[in-house]
Amino acid sequence: MTVTPAAPPQSVTVRVPAKVNVQLAVGGRRPDGFHDLANVFFAVALGDEVTATPADTLRITVSGPDADQVPLDGSNLAARAARLLAHRHGRTPDVHLHIAKDIPVAGGMAGGSADAAAALVACDALWGTATPLDVLLDLAAELGSDVPFALLGGAALGRGRGEILEPLPVGADVHWVFAVADGGLSTPAVFRECDRLRDEAGTGSDTDAVPDPQPDPALLDALAAGDTAALAAALTNDLQAAALSLRPALADTLRAGADGGALGSLVSGSGPTCAFLAKDAESAAAVADALAASGTCRAVRVTHGPVPGAHITAVVR
Ligand code: ATP
Repeated sequence: MTVTPAAPPQSVTVRVPAKVNVQLAVGGRRPDGFHDLANVFFAVALGDEVTATPADTLRITVSGPDADQVPLDGSNLAARAARLLAHRHGRTPDVHLHIAKDIPVAGGMAGGSADAAAALVACDALWGTATPLDVLLDLAAELGSDVPFALLGGAALGRGRGEILEPLPVGADVHWVFAVADGGLSTPAVFRECDRLRDEAGTGSDTDAVPDPQPDPALLDALAAGDTAALAAALTNDLQAAALSLRPALADTLRAGADGGALGSLVSGSGPTCAFLAKDAESAAAVADALAASGTCRAVRVTHGPVPGAHITAVVR
């Protein structure tokens, strides 16, 4: 039998999830300015789609409600990912990447990192470079500390700056509601505010003053058991006080979700998106209605997780 080699793809589309940190423990500021983290990532069904097609030169286009806030030049994380993968394989990054953006921009849900992960997977398939997963994960870590998790998805414990990942079992599908704020928060600014608050409180902000960040065993047990109530009780984010200090109105959003019946809540990553854990789909709808009626956020999104990381959804030949 003769096997005809498949024609090279004309386009590859990859779907990639946003993340919420169900635990974000922040250590002291290291001499290099970074902070060690114990970061429990959780991938949710809210996501972006990146489509790669051949082009004469690297080009980015973006659609979606926040499209005007996304850079189209070489600073776009998806463009950086395409360049890095091309360099690795000694080729030119001649690709058009279209980002259908649904993840809130600068919202603490790692949307840029998600697009970088999706671009790695899409370009790898378009170019037929067949990069092994461990190499993709190394390239992802070079691009940013949240990028490797967007490749893996599911739930995972991130150590170091968040890029050293250990997948975690999750015993049940979890219902989430996200309150999207007007405008974003800069992640470096939120870390600086966290350090400032620690200094102001007299505890100090350096590694010798702050205990090493550790995952919470109760949270990991709750995840593995699929015990939503225990998970809700264990949600923590060491950046939350800093995000609230920079954006005090987020306290009203958190209260509105709690009043609407959320089991637990927290600021997502560096914020300003707020995440609410609901008992079931019906309760998630009630929390969403309460948040929408409260006027304390720009948009409300109902979703669930965990879901897989960046994966191909369509190949056109
Ligand atoms: P993180 O929590 O990973 O720090 P975030 O979720 O708060 O990030 P992003 O949505 O990743 O924030 O956007 C942060 C900034 O990155 C934006 O303000 C934008 O200027 C820049 N950026 C670069 N590439 C992208 C991209 N593909 N999508 C969104 N923002 C991008």
